[in-house]
Amino acid sequence: MWRTDPDEQMLRDTINRIGRDFGPDYFLAKARAHEHTHELWQAAAEAGLVGVNLPEEHGGGGMGIAELAVVAEEFAATGSPLMMIVVSSAICGSVIARFGNPEQRKEWLPSMTAGDSIFAFAITEPDAGSNSHALTTRATRDGDGWVLRGQKYYITGVDVADHILVVARTGTDQKGHGELSLFVVDADAPGLRKDPIPVALTLPERQYTLYFDDVHLSEDRLIGRAGEGLRQVFAGLNPERILGAALANGVARYALDRAATYANQRQVWGVPIGSHQGLAHPLAEAFVQVELARQMTSVAAREYDQGRNAGMASNVAKLAAADAAMMAVDRSMQAHGGNGFAEEYGIAEFWSLARFLKTAPVSREMVLNFVAERGLGLPKSY
Ligand SMILES: Cc1cc2nc3c(=O)[nH]c(=O)nc-3n(C[C@H](O)[C@H](O)[C@H](O)COP(=O)(O)OP(=O)(O)OC[C@H]3O[C@@H](n4cnc5c(N)ncnc54)[C@H](O)[C@@H]3O)c2cc1C
Repeated sequence: MWRTDPDEQMLRDTINRIGRDFGPDYFLAKARAHEHTHELWQAAAEAGLVGVNLPEEHGGGGMGIAELAVVAEEFAATGSPLMMIVVSSAICGSVIARFGNPEQRKEWLPSMTAGDSIFAFAITEPDAGSNSHALTTRATRDGDGWVLRGQKYYITGVDVADHILVVARTGTDQKGHGELSLFVVDADAPGLRKDPIPVALTLPERQYTLYFDDVHLSEDRLIGRAGEGLRQVFAGLNPERILGAALANGVARYALDRAATYANQRQVWGVPIGSHQGLAHPLAEAFVQVELARQMTSVAAREYDQGRNAGMASNVAKLAAADAAMMAVDRSMQAHGGNGFAEEYGIAEFWSLARFLKTAPVSREMVLNFVAERGLGLPKSY
């Protein structure tokens, strides 16, 4: 369709080949059982895709968030949206690669890129929600190290993670905002309790509430500088938004592709249902929105990779992509008629992921707040 850079096309072809070997039936079986897509993860790691954005000296591909976004989008387009690419490679990988010291990078990045270890990421708290300044999980000095105490919720993939990158308060500034720091906590650390949260999402990943009850951390578990966590976390949050957008774009492409196939084959009045404009135009409209979201996602990824402030582009891409994905999945379901709800056709179960991306990793309302203030210069309302 549009001309794609030959290197990018080669990357897309590689991902597509691996993704198709597994396919939506594999993914959905895992998702229904809430089991990790271990085999696919390993295949992706062996092809160098899990750490495509991480430094070559640590086994990564030495490329950027743009290429990682291609990985997330293309796997999702084959029917396998991999959330842990967002959490582990995009957020945690980016933060450790950028702010970890040489020993920390050597300790955690090679096993991450090899697919041998996975990181979860924990910032959200029950009493703080969208307001990261109000986090209460606290790390306090304890001799040569730290003691961590507090609670996080909706933390994805803790059951398959070896480590969790935790955002904790280590002080309070003059405005009463938390001075935040980042710590690597082992997923089996003494004092850490993990309670699953049942959620109505067809995803391999489970969600957890985490209780840190005096978890002891050595000094080498602090990433970067104490108190600079918020600045550091933004090195991971823009990639998270870009990768969230990429997942949404991939799911949308998958749904539209399925819809087009079905609408070309299914006949009810002696012609394919796709020849009725009442069915074709809604799909074509969704296609337009998805392509616009893909372009914005690519702009955001380039901004980030070129070291520019990618906040606006990442937020705009995330919102546009989530909306486009919801539209695409919904219209694909409509095109499938009753079969849109059948497990066999593999459409309806992707609705929950598309809808989830409207709420997370940053909610639609918080994106609009950001755009209203930074893009339009309107007063802050909260
Ligand atoms: C399946 C799942 C997986 C997740 N994985 C992770 C993870 O791995 N790690 C992690 O740290 N977090 C994770 N989250 C948390 C997710 O990022 C948050 O749920 C999301 O950011 C919203 O925060 P909240 O749930 O506390 O909602 P709240 O902050 O309580 O907001 C509730 C509603 O109020 C709106 N609202 C709040 N403030 C304003 C305002 N000022 N103006 C207008 N509207 C406002 C919000 O947009 C939202 O619609 C996950 C969540 C889910 C559901």
